[in-house]
Amino acid sequence: MELPFAESFKIKMVEPIRKSSRPEREQWIREAGYNLFGLKSERVFIDLLTDSGTGAMSDRQWSEMMLGDESYAGASSYFKMKEAILELLGFEHFLPTHQGRAAENVLFSVLIKEGDIIPGNSHFDTTKGHIEFRKAIAVDCTIDEAFDTTLSHPFKGNIDLEKLENILKSKGDKIPFIIVTVTCNSSGGQPVSIENMKMVRQLADKYGKIIVFDSARFAENAYFIKLREKGYQDKTIREIVREMFACADAMTMSAKKDAIVNMGGFIAMRSKELHAKASVFNIMFEGYITYGGMSGRDMNALAQGLYDGTEFNYLETRIRQVEYLGKRLMDYGIPVQQPTGGHAVFVDAKRFLPHLPKEEFQAQTLAVELYLEAGVRGVEIGTLLADRDPVSRENRYPVLELMRLAIPRRVYTNNHMDVVAVALKNIYDRRETIRKGFKIVTEAPIMRHFTVTLDRT
Ligand SMILES: *Cc1c(COP(=O)(O)O)cnc(C)c1O
Repeated sequence: MELPFAESFKIKMVEPIRKSSRPEREQWIREAGYNLFGLKSERVFIDLLTDSGTGAMSDRQWSEMMLGDESYAGASSYFKMKEAILELLGFEHFLPTHQGRAAENVLFSVLIKEGDIIPGNSHFDTTKGHIEFRKAIAVDCTIDEAFDTTLSHPFKGNIDLEKLENILKSKGDKIPFIIVTVTCNSSGGQPVSIENMKMVRQLADKYGKIIVFDSARFAENAYFIKLREKGYQDKTIREIVREMFACADAMTMSAKKDAIVNMGGFIAMRSKELHAKASVFNIMFEGYITYGGMSGRDMNALAQGLYDGTEFNYLETRIRQVEYLGKRLMDYGIPVQQPTGGHAVFVDAKRFLPHLPKEEFQAQTLAVELYLEAGVRGVEIGTLLADRDPVSRENRYPVLELMRLAIPRRVYTNNHMDVVAVALKNIYDRRETIRKGFKIVTEAPIMRHFTVTLDRT
């Protein structure tokens, strides 16, 4: 008999989590303004709000924490990170930042001015926020297949080359760079193929543009390339990673994802000149160029995390768990984004609650139901996240109305996944009885989903 699959780690330290009663959860979520971000984490049983900064570090990372060099300038921890970035990603220059959006803030301060256009594949919310904050426009050039959750396509993160070339042709003088998000978070943790990256590179060269990779989940992207793209089966994850980044001129990184640290980020680039320009903003916003908002110990753990995160066995354990949850839900007939992505399972709330009007926030309603059912915290990736149009101030209704269940790295077992699956099945069985959604009580002018408060309609 073939041996079953099992995790490529064992557990050395544990953290207790608590169950609660439904009446308790009803009170807590009401107090939180029906916003899952507003809950105390101790009131959550299984927390799938995000995979960002929520991973469990390895014993090797914890060892590195003790070796951190806290010198203000020229710390050995900085050079450890520099070496890992050069060896694994192939970039000669880098700047540490405290997280991914800080990397965006610094790099975009150099590259973007008012009126610019930044084409890419479904820009992440903070990326779009930093573009729009500078009165520039993010143009989504993702392939159309990405917006049909029932369609199975191996690389739903791909850029539609025709859409990209059209905008390069018509608005080229307004475009400072092209951004490629690997994997594409907003379209469901979906990968971009190497072939697509190479084609984008060709277009960028043709029109004289630089390419920035938004790289939070670059290693998960490489895993999918190894499994799905012709000619890559026998390459190592690290070889694929090098080939991916060979298509980019610069990258921003939220190390809270694939570098498996609780806080950290960086910008890396080939151009010495770009590094010099970005250094000015890094010093202003983040800190001196050899620590940029990070402690020495955190830079050490990040460097080790880049090695951990690019090991095949780790990635296989990680992504097979995501797949496992996706499969359990599909077996119950629950509509999920197919194929499942690298870091999360996305439940299609439009198909789950089709009778609820979109004005009442279908995905948010589903996320609140899931919390009430089992103390599981997911997150809305839909109308609340999409914000209002910056000019008309009307709600923007995205094509996909999703509830994301993001799985922290090396944290939960498949028993936890089973609880999530059964909780959603119970809701699915009584979905017809869910007749009321939510209305907004208070909201911020930008990135409202973090702090919005709601009430039942
Ligand atoms: C998380 C993320 C960011 C922002 O990073 P933070 O560390 O949360 O600031 C940017 N882009 C993508 C694709 C991300 O997933």
